[in-house]
Amino acid sequence: MRSPSLTIIGSDVPPSWQQMLSDLITDPQELLTLLRLDAREKPLGLLAAEQFPLKVPRWFVSRIEPGTWKDPILRQLWPSVEEQIDAPSYVVDPLQESRFNPVPGLLHKYTSRVLLTAAPHCAVHCRYCFRRHFDYQGNAPSRSDWQAAFAHIAADARIEEVLLSGGDPLALSNRQVGWLLEQLEAIPHINTVRIHTRMTIVLPQRIDAELTSMLAASRLNIVLVSHANHAHELSEESDVAFRLLASSFVTLLNQSVILAGVNDSSDTLIALSKALFAQGVLPYYLHLPDAVAGTAHFDVAISRAQALVADMQAQLPGYLVPRLVREEPGNDSKTRYA
Ligand SMILES: *Cc1c(COP(=O)(O)O)cnc(C)c1O
Ligand code: SF4
Repeated sequence: MRSPSLTIIGSDVPPSWQQMLSDLITDPQELLTLLRLDAREKPLGLLAAEQFPLKVPRWFVSRIEPGTWKDPILRQLWPSVEEQIDAPSYVVDPLQESRFNPVPGLLHKYTSRVLLTAAPHCAVHCRYCFRRHFDYQGNAPSRSDWQAAFAHIAADARIEEVLLSGGDPLALSNRQVGWLLEQLEAIPHINTVRIHTRMTIVLPQRIDAELTSMLAASRLNIVLVSHANHAHELSEESDVAFRLLASSFVTLLNQSVILAGVNDSSDTLIALSKALFAQGVLPYYLHLPDAVAGTAHFDVAISRAQALVADMQAQLPGYLVPRLVREEPGNDSKTRYA
């Protein structure tokens, strides 16, 4: 971490990502003041904000257009009263993840790959998050849990790929990410590590030289799945981060969630695919929303989502059309809808 004395040299010394990560906006009123908005127009959902508080890096707020509640990024961040409307088929754990959780911190749903909830927190709280009710505290692996997770992976030679998810695995320090990589490199049948992160979007400064040289030096294939839902989320800073990753031999993909009022139009989705490709990233999955309690107002009907993807297909090269998927508990992969 940058020592405080260094910042005296000049006020133009940019803050380190660690400082940025410890200076998140969590006060709803502060966010509204920055955006010149009035809470009376769109009251805060108090219960929603208590269960899953507002959280966003100060830098990322610059991606939001001030003065309008219609902004597609703000809609992903603002704890709204709509979250408190009871929708009977929306549940706390729609993916039944607790069924596939043999050791704390590890999900093994699909034969050849497992997912580690490597970090108990994120830099941002996305209102539609399917893990918003996930018991991170109860699932924060202790040292012996980590040993059990690696033992589970080492004992099953069918597992070739490990996904680092969370929370956000890049909310961890480089030292912690490095330790995880080392543990996985030591298991001979693991050939790929996939990092699922929103950091490339909400705090791209996180992608520093220490991290990328570590990734470049690994014997493992490294795949990074970024998470952007709208072209406005991409920035000059994310471009720098993706270029650094690409020059460190990291394969770059993006996943999105289709969200009412955010990106449920073909023009918006096409613009997103083009903006990603301009930064060297290919669209991978477009997820249908999961039926997570508190997120019904984001729902888009499957038939409508399919029509939007058909529009994308008619206007884009095949490699810029994401696969429309949903996770259905008990299936041996995600289910494709287009
Ligand atoms: C989505 C997911 C994966 C990865 O699936 P892919 O189709 O390979 O992207 C692996 N494990 C879990 C638990 C998942 O939810
Ligand atoms: S960054 Fe990912 S895990 Fe974290 S709140 Fe957003 S969608 Fe959920």
